[in-house]
Amino acid sequence: MLKLDNVSKTYKTGDKALHNVCLEVSAGQVVGLIGPSGAGKSTLIRCINRLVEPTQGSITLGSTDLTKLNRRDLRQARRRIGMIFQEYALVERLTVMENVLSGRLGYVPTWRSWFRKFSPEDIALAHSLLDNVGLADHYNKRADALSGGQRQRVGIARALEQNPELLLVDEPTASLDPKTSRQIMRLIRAACQERNLPAIINIHDVMLAQQFSDRIIGLRAGKVVFDGSPEALSDEV
Ligand code: ADP
Ligand code: ADP
Repeated sequence: MLKLDNVSKTYKTGDKALHNVCLEVSAGQVVGLIGPSGAGKSTLIRCINRLVEPTQGSITLGSTDLTKLNRRDLRQARRRIGMIFQEYALVERLTVMENVLSGRLGYVPTWRSWFRKFSPEDIALAHSLLDNVGLADHYNKRADALSGGQRQRVGIARALEQNPELLLVDEPTASLDPKTSRQIMRLIRAACQERNLPAIINIHDVMLAQQFSDRIIGLRAGKVVFDGSPEALSDEV
Protein backbone atom coordinates (compact mmCIF):
# COMPACT_ATOMS: atom_id res chain seq x y z
CA MET A 1 0.00 0.00 0.00
CA LEU A 2 1.05 3.58 -0.71
CA LYS A 3 0.22 6.39 1.68
CA LEU A 4 0.87 10.11 1.28
CA ASP A 5 0.45 12.15 4.42
CA ASN A 6 0.36 15.94 4.17
CA VAL A 7 2.76 16.12 1.25
CA SER A 8 3.66 19.64 0.11
CA LYS A 9 6.17 20.87 -2.44
CA THR A 10 7.40 24.40 -2.93
CA TYR A 11 10.06 24.75 -5.62
CA LYS A 12 13.08 27.00 -5.11
CA THR A 13 11.45 29.40 -7.55
CA GLY A 14 8.59 29.86 -5.05
CA ASP A 15 6.10 27.81 -7.11
CA LYS A 16 3.81 26.00 -4.68
CA ALA A 17 3.15 22.81 -6.63
CA LEU A 18 1.51 20.67 -3.90
CA HIS A 19 -0.42 21.61 -0.77
CA ASN A 20 -0.96 19.06 1.99
CA VAL A 21 -1.83 16.15 -0.24
CA CYS A 22 -3.15 13.13 1.66
CA LEU A 23 -4.07 9.92 -0.10
CA GLU A 24 -3.91 6.15 0.20
CA VAL A 25 -3.78 3.73 -2.68
CA SER A 26 -4.52 0.09 -1.98
CA ALA A 27 -3.40 -3.08 -3.75
CA GLY A 28 -4.60 -3.50 -7.30
CA GLN A 29 -6.14 -0.05 -7.50
CA VAL A 30 -5.56 1.88 -10.72
CA VAL A 31 -5.71 5.61 -9.98
CA GLY A 32 -6.11 8.10 -12.81
CA LEU A 33 -4.53 11.41 -11.80
CA ILE A 34 -6.14 14.25 -13.73
CA GLY A 35 -6.09 18.03 -13.66
CA PRO A 36 -5.15 21.01 -15.82
CA SER A 37 -1.58 21.72 -16.84
CA GLY A 38 0.37 23.03 -13.85
CA ALA A 39 -1.94 21.33 -11.32
CA GLY A 40 0.96 19.37 -9.79
CA LYS A 41 0.45 15.93 -11.35
CA SER A 42 4.06 15.44 -12.45
CA THR A 43 5.32 16.86 -9.17
CA LEU A 44 3.18 14.38 -7.22
CA ILE A 45 4.49 11.42 -9.22
CA ARG A 46 8.08 12.67 -8.95
CA CYS A 47 7.81 13.17 -5.19
CA ILE A 48 6.89 9.51 -4.78
CA ASN A 49 10.06 8.27 -6.48
CA ARG A 50 11.97 11.28 -5.15
CA LEU A 51 13.03 12.67 -8.48
CA VAL A 52 11.62 15.73 -6.72
CA GLU A 53 12.18 16.17 -2.96
CA PRO A 54 8.96 16.97 -1.12
CA THR A 55 9.21 20.00 1.14
CA GLN A 56 7.00 18.44 3.79
CA GLY A 57 5.09 15.28 4.62
CA SER A 58 5.66 11.55 4.50
CA ILE A 59 5.26 9.02 1.70
CA THR A 60 5.18 5.39 2.79
CA LEU A 61 5.33 2.33 0.57
CA GLY A 62 4.60 -0.79 2.62
CA SER A 63 6.47 0.02 5.83
CA THR A 64 9.15 2.24 4.23
CA ASP A 65 9.00 6.02 4.58
CA LEU A 66 10.46 6.97 1.20
CA THR A 67 11.11 10.56 2.27
CA LYS A 68 13.60 9.41 4.95
CA LEU A 69 15.86 7.22 2.82
CA ASN A 70 19.51 7.95 2.13
CA ARG A 71 20.87 7.56 -1.40
CA ARG A 72 21.75 3.88 -1.20
CA ASP A 73 18.46 2.83 0.40
CA LEU A 74 16.59 5.02 -2.08
CA ARG A 75 18.17 3.14 -4.98
CA GLN A 76 16.87 -0.11 -3.52
CA ALA A 77 13.44 1.34 -2.82
CA ARG A 78 13.18 2.55 -6.41
CA ARG A 79 13.55 -1.05 -7.55
CA ARG A 80 10.19 -1.61 -5.83
CA ILE A 81 8.55 1.06 -8.00
CA GLY A 82 7.94 0.49 -11.70
CA MET A 83 8.05 3.63 -13.86
CA ILE A 84 6.49 4.22 -17.26
CA PHE A 85 7.27 7.47 -19.07
CA GLN A 86 5.72 9.58 -21.81
CA GLU A 87 8.81 9.44 -24.00
CA TYR A 88 9.50 5.77 -23.16
CA ALA A 89 13.09 6.40 -21.99
CA LEU A 90 14.46 3.37 -23.86
CA VAL A 91 18.12 2.95 -24.72
CA GLU A 92 17.91 3.32 -28.49
CA ARG A 93 20.88 1.19 -29.51
CA LEU A 94 19.95 -1.74 -27.29
CA THR A 95 17.52 -4.47 -28.28
CA VAL A 96 14.00 -4.77 -26.96
CA MET A 97 15.06 -7.59 -24.64
CA GLU A 98 18.12 -5.75 -23.36
CA ASN A 99 15.92 -2.75 -22.62
CA VAL A 100 13.50 -4.89 -20.62
CA LEU A 101 16.38 -6.27 -18.53
CA SER A 102 18.38 -3.02 -18.31
CA GLY A 103 17.30 -2.41 -14.69
CA ARG A 104 19.26 -5.50 -13.69
CA LEU A 105 22.50 -3.88 -14.81
CA GLY A 106 22.18 -0.72 -12.74
CA TYR A 107 24.07 1.18 -15.46
CA VAL A 108 23.91 1.72 -19.20
CA PRO A 109 26.80 0.00 -20.96
CA THR A 110 28.97 2.17 -23.19
CA TRP A 111 29.69 -0.59 -25.70
CA ARG A 112 27.25 -3.29 -26.62
CA SER A 113 30.07 -5.85 -26.78
CA TRP A 114 30.55 -5.35 -23.05
CA PHE A 115 26.93 -6.07 -22.38
CA ARG A 116 26.47 -8.65 -19.68
CA LYS A 117 25.23 -12.01 -20.84
CA PHE A 118 21.89 -12.60 -19.20
CA SER A 119 21.03 -15.88 -17.52
CA PRO A 120 18.50 -18.23 -19.14
CA GLU A 121 16.10 -17.28 -16.33
CA ASP A 122 16.44 -13.56 -17.10
CA ILE A 123 15.85 -14.24 -20.76
CA ALA A 124 12.80 -16.42 -20.12
CA LEU A 125 11.33 -13.69 -17.92
CA ALA A 126 11.92 -11.02 -20.57
CA HIS A 127 10.32 -13.23 -23.21
CA SER A 128 7.21 -13.86 -21.14
CA LEU A 129 6.83 -10.14 -20.31
CA LEU A 130 7.23 -9.25 -23.99
CA ASP A 131 4.75 -11.96 -25.06
CA ASN A 132 2.22 -10.45 -22.65
CA VAL A 133 2.44 -7.05 -24.32
CA GLY A 134 2.27 -8.49 -27.85
CA LEU A 135 5.96 -8.18 -28.77
CA ALA A 136 6.77 -11.87 -29.22
CA ASP A 137 8.18 -11.22 -32.69
CA HIS A 138 10.42 -8.35 -31.66
CA TYR A 139 12.79 -9.58 -28.91
CA ASN A 140 15.96 -8.78 -30.82
CA LYS A 141 14.94 -5.64 -32.66
CA ARG A 142 16.72 -2.46 -31.70
CA ALA A 143 14.57 0.00 -29.79
CA ASP A 144 15.10 2.67 -32.45
CA ALA A 145 13.39 0.42 -35.03
CA LEU A 146 10.06 0.43 -33.16
CA SER A 147 6.89 2.50 -33.48
CA GLY A 148 5.71 4.66 -30.55
CA GLY A 149 3.13 2.11 -29.47
CA GLN A 150 5.70 -0.69 -29.57
CA ARG A 151 8.12 1.41 -27.56
CA GLN A 152 5.57 1.97 -24.86
CA ARG A 153 4.90 -1.79 -24.76
CA VAL A 154 8.60 -2.27 -24.08
CA GLY A 155 8.26 0.41 -21.40
CA ILE A 156 5.49 -1.60 -19.75
CA ALA A 157 7.48 -4.85 -19.88
CA ARG A 158 10.53 -3.10 -18.42
CA ALA A 159 8.49 -1.59 -15.57
CA LEU A 160 7.16 -5.05 -14.67
CA GLU A 161 10.53 -6.84 -14.91
CA GLN A 162 11.38 -5.95 -11.31
CA ASN A 163 8.03 -7.30 -10.05
CA PRO A 164 7.23 -3.91 -8.50
CA GLU A 165 4.93 -3.10 -5.58
CA LEU A 166 3.75 0.10 -7.22
CA LEU A 167 3.52 1.44 -10.75
CA LEU A 168 4.01 5.16 -11.45
CA VAL A 169 2.97 6.19 -14.92
CA ASP A 170 3.61 9.69 -16.29
CA GLU A 171 1.54 10.64 -19.37
CA PRO A 172 1.92 7.22 -21.03
CA THR A 173 -0.17 8.07 -24.08
CA ALA A 174 0.67 11.73 -24.70
CA SER A 175 2.75 10.88 -27.79
CA LEU A 176 0.37 8.24 -29.19
CA ASP A 177 -2.71 8.22 -31.42
CA PRO A 178 -6.14 7.50 -29.81
CA LYS A 179 -6.34 3.84 -30.79
CA THR A 180 -2.81 3.05 -29.63
CA SER A 181 -3.48 5.03 -26.45
CA ARG A 182 -6.40 2.77 -25.61
CA GLN A 183 -4.32 -0.35 -26.28
CA ILE A 184 -1.58 0.90 -23.97
CA MET A 185 -4.02 1.81 -21.19
CA ARG A 186 -5.69 -1.60 -21.56
CA LEU A 187 -2.32 -3.34 -21.16
CA ILE A 188 -1.39 -1.30 -18.09
CA ARG A 189 -4.75 -1.99 -16.48
CA ALA A 190 -4.57 -5.71 -17.28
CA ALA A 191 -1.08 -5.95 -15.76
CA CYS A 192 -2.30 -4.24 -12.56
CA GLN A 193 -5.32 -6.51 -12.24
CA GLU A 194 -3.33 -9.66 -12.89
CA ARG A 195 -0.66 -8.75 -10.32
CA ASN A 196 -2.88 -6.94 -7.81
CA LEU A 197 -0.54 -4.02 -8.45
CA PRO A 198 -1.50 -0.45 -7.49
CA ALA A 199 -0.83 2.27 -10.08
CA ILE A 200 -0.96 6.04 -10.29
CA ILE A 201 -1.33 7.26 -13.85
CA ASN A 202 -0.81 10.93 -14.65
CA ILE A 203 -3.11 11.32 -17.60
CA HIS A 204 -4.30 14.42 -19.38
CA ASP A 205 -7.14 12.73 -21.24
CA VAL A 206 -10.13 12.57 -18.87
CA MET A 207 -12.06 10.11 -21.05
CA LEU A 208 -9.16 7.67 -21.08
CA ALA A 209 -8.71 8.13 -17.34
CA GLN A 210 -12.37 7.34 -16.74
CA GLN A 211 -12.36 4.35 -19.04
CA PHE A 212 -9.32 2.62 -17.57
CA SER A 213 -9.13 3.66 -13.89
CA ASP A 214 -10.79 2.31 -10.75
CA ARG A 215 -10.52 5.68 -9.09
CA ILE A 216 -9.99 9.26 -10.22
CA ILE A 217 -8.02 11.85 -8.28
CA GLY A 218 -8.39 15.39 -9.54
CA LEU A 219 -5.70 17.95 -8.74
CA ARG A 220 -6.03 21.68 -9.12
CA ALA A 221 -3.40 24.19 -8.01
CA GLY A 222 -1.66 21.51 -5.95
CA LYS A 223 -4.75 20.37 -4.05
CA VAL A 224 -6.90 17.27 -4.30
CA VAL A 225 -10.28 18.58 -5.53
CA PHE A 226 -11.85 15.26 -6.51
CA ASP A 227 -11.35 11.72 -5.22
CA GLY A 228 -13.88 9.12 -6.29
CA SER A 229 -15.07 6.65 -8.86
CA PRO A 230 -14.92 7.38 -12.59
CA GLU A 231 -18.75 7.36 -12.65
CA ALA A 232 -18.97 9.95 -9.86
CA LEU A 233 -16.74 12.23 -11.91
CA SER A 234 -19.16 12.09 -14.85
CA ASP A 235 -21.96 13.22 -12.52
CA GLU A 236 -19.97 16.23 -11.41
CA VAL A 237 -18.92 17.44 -14.84
P1 ADP B 1 1.31 19.17 -14.10
O1 ADP B 1 2.10 17.90 -14.19
O2 ADP B 1 -0.05 18.96 -13.50
O3 ADP B 1 1.24 19.92 -15.39
P2 ADP B 1 3.58 20.16 -12.62
O4 ADP B 1 3.77 19.26 -11.45
O5 ADP B 1 4.47 19.99 -13.80
O6 ADP B 1 2.05 20.12 -13.05
O7 ADP B 1 3.72 21.67 -12.12
C1 ADP B 1 3.07 22.17 -10.97
C2 ADP B 1 3.59 23.57 -10.69
O8 ADP B 1 4.95 23.50 -10.30
C3 ADP B 1 3.55 24.50 -11.89
O9 ADP B 1 3.27 25.79 -11.39
C4 ADP B 1 4.96 24.42 -12.45
O10 ADP B 1 5.31 25.60 -13.12
C5 ADP B 1 5.77 24.24 -11.18
N1 ADP B 1 7.00 23.47 -11.43
C6 ADP B 1 7.09 22.21 -11.92
N2 ADP B 1 8.36 21.81 -11.99
C7 ADP B 1 9.11 22.83 -11.52
C8 ADP B 1 10.50 23.02 -11.32
N3 ADP B 1 11.39 22.08 -11.61
N4 ADP B 1 10.90 24.20 -10.81
C9 ADP B 1 10.00 25.14 -10.49
N5 ADP B 1 8.67 25.04 -10.65
C10 ADP B 1 8.23 23.89 -11.15
P1 ADP C 1 4.79 18.35 -17.89
O1 ADP C 1 4.20 18.54 -19.24
O2 ADP C 1 5.19 16.94 -17.59
O3 ADP C 1 3.99 18.97 -16.77
P2 ADP C 1 6.45 20.64 -18.24
O4 ADP C 1 6.51 20.81 -19.72
O5 ADP C 1 5.55 21.46 -17.39
O6 ADP C 1 6.21 19.10 -17.93
O7 ADP C 1 7.91 20.79 -17.65
C1 ADP C 1 9.04 20.22 -18.27
C2 ADP C 1 10.20 20.27 -17.29
O8 ADP C 1 10.40 21.59 -16.77
C3 ADP C 1 9.96 19.39 -16.06
O9 ADP C 1 11.18 18.81 -15.66
C4 ADP C 1 9.47 20.34 -15.00
O10 ADP C 1 9.78 19.88 -13.70
C5 ADP C 1 10.22 21.61 -15.36
N1 ADP C 1 9.43 22.81 -15.04
C6 ADP C 1 8.11 22.99 -15.21
N2 ADP C 1 7.71 24.19 -14.78
C7 ADP C 1 8.85 24.80 -14.35
C8 ADP C 1 9.12 26.07 -13.80
N3 ADP C 1 8.16 26.97 -13.56
N4 ADP C 1 10.38 26.37 -13.48
C9 ADP C 1 11.36 25.48 -13.68
N5 ADP C 1 11.17 24.27 -14.19
C10 ADP C 1 9.93 23.92 -14.52
